[in-house]
Amino acid sequence: MTATVIDGKAFAAKVRGQVGEHVAKLKEEHGITPGLAVVLVGEDPASQVYVKSKGKMTVEVGMKSVEHRMDETVSEADLLAMVQKLNDDPTIHGILVQLPLPGHLNSDLVINSIDPAKDVDGFHISNVGLLGTGQKSMVPCTPLGSLMMLRDHHGSLSGLNAVVIGRSNIVGKPMAQLLLGDSCTVTIAHSRTKDLPSVVRQADIVVAAVGRPQTVLGDWIKPGATVIDVGINRIDKPEGGTRLVGDADYESCAAVAGAITPVPGGVGPMTIACLLANTLTACCRSNGLTEPEGLTA
Ligand code: NAD
Repeated sequence: MTATVIDGKAFAAKVRGQVGEHVAKLKEEHGITPGLAVVLVGEDPASQVYVKSKGKMTVEVGMKSVEHRMDETVSEADLLAMVQKLNDDPTIHGILVQLPLPGHLNSDLVINSIDPAKDVDGFHISNVGLLGTGQKSMVPCTPLGSLMMLRDHHGSLSGLNAVVIGRSNIVGKPMAQLLLGDSCTVTIAHSRTKDLPSVVRQADIVVAAVGRPQTVLGDWIKPGATVIDVGINRIDKPEGGTRLVGDADYESCAAVAGAITPVPGGVGPMTIACLLANTLTACCRSNGLTEPEGLTA
């Protein structure tokens, strides 16, 4: 079997198109422009690239984009004051503090200082609790994008066996909650899981969020299963230079799976699209307007 390639780039373009249409309608009918503020502390090159492309796409869908860069040595008090200023700003509907933060800053404290209604990353403890209890919340972007692709490919996910590899707060745990919400039978595997290949072999859906390149191998995959590869790893090419690979070994998995997301061009583009979708959702909620359909969990 050769797997269907789930084209995250095309899917993300479609989602951004839907967001853009809703933004235009919001402006025309209600005179409201959704606003997203991104706070970047320090000079981490990867974070700078993410923040730049987030800003560009925010503007492309017609939203207001605000970027606050703070020095690597910024005090916690000054960063908290910045978040508070954005919490109080009625033109800002989404706030994202780019992670990781420098070591002297308490990430949990900073994230939990964001107004939960503006927490478009879905990392605030209130949103985590709401998601865990099946209530309306802001949903973390990477798992939300993965769920959208799974729903699009499968239709109903009800009753399917899902194995999520990775238990991080950012990807693994919220992904498992979302799959549970769609009535999958969910297993969370992690670094201490015994005989991971045999656990993965039970899965109709495998979500690889391991943070290690090409870890999930084709002979772990049940024939016809769907593989969602969340991983983004840069590895050396034998001929020199580097390339991006996922947490699944694409070649061997694609030979067995029914469907697979490539890296790059799979989950990655969906993450930013979902950030924009979350900002739109937050804006609609805060203004008491109907939320766009299909853009939330
Ligand atoms: P993390 O390091 O916080 O968590 C990794 C998880 O994998 C841990 O829970 C750990 O228990 C588990 N793990 C580690 N080694 C393992 C092993 N050998 N076997 C089984 N489980 C193992 O990482 P994260 O933040 O959850 O990110 C996971 C991956 O997703 C990374 O590659 C990251 O770059 C990528 N990522 C991509 C996006 C995106 O937009 N596509 C967003 C966030 C993260």
